[in-house]
Amino acid sequence: FTEKEAYQQSFNPREYLKEYYSMNDSKDGGNVFLTQNLKLLHKMFSLDGLRGNTLIDVGCGPTIYQLLSACEHFQEIIALDYTDRNRQELEKWLRNEEGAFDWVPVVKYVCELEGDREKWAEKQEKVRKKVKQVLKCDVTKANPTAPVSLPPADCIVSTLCLEGACKDLPTFRSALRNIGTLVKPGGHLVMLTTLGDTYYTFNKQVFSCLHVEKHEVEAAVEAAGFEVKLSEVQPYTVSDDRMDCSGFLGLVARK
Ligand code: SAH
Repeated sequence: FTEKEAYQQSFNPREYLKEYYSMNDSKDGGNVFLTQNLKLLHKMFSLDGLRGNTLIDVGCGPTIYQLLSACEHFQEIIALDYTDRNRQELEKWLRNEEGAFDWVPVVKYVCELEGDREKWAEKQEKVRKKVKQVLKCDVTKANPTAPVSLPPADCIVSTLCLEGACKDLPTFRSALRNIGTLVKPGGHLVMLTTLGDTYYTFNKQVFSCLHVEKHEVEAAVEAAGFEVKLSEVQPYTVSDDRMDCSGFLGLVARK
């Protein structure tokens, strides 16, 4: 199991971005992992009721793809992650600093899903304006943002985080209860989880992943006080030696 200290020490945000979030010019950007997840997020954030004032992104890493559909429906976003370097990499992009990761091809792809590829610059600015804070969090803590207490949000989104952060199913279930406290009653949880995966690699390093199945994620979400509204599996059939996942689960639930 990859402890959070290993994330802090050796998770290299630049290498992670390069490995998993680059697009090329071939069909669908040549990155099925990414485009499939963008389509799931687009679908989830198009559901009725997924709107409000505040959104919290739990375990954001150095990425913003998970905010591209979401940013159209919420006014203020707070991004949380455990490692200093991931938060710094994200802040670098938010400040539009030189050398920040180029998300433009990804932003364009999502704009195309939404029906207007030409709106990419506007959407990019929207994300930059709406992310108001980037804070440290630990999903294994009862209050993940301690010592800071955030007012409960209208929605939380968490992509590919808990299965990396939790060593076993009981820890996964308790992490869901912990992050569940960040959302208001009546608010939503939007989750993207790898199914059947035990590891992922980049930069010649291996990170462990908790092997979970759809029914286990749904049960954990319900036990954390949510009602599942949508739960959809996208099989991952690409031969990919960077990970051993069988699919991705997109899940929306209401507290
Ligand atoms: N959400 C991003 C990053 C996923 S990588 C994406 O979709 O690509 C997994 C992330 O979980 C890393 O950013 C890592 O720092 C974070 N993480 C690991 N342990 C954590 C913990 N205990 N609490 C919060 N985040 C944690």
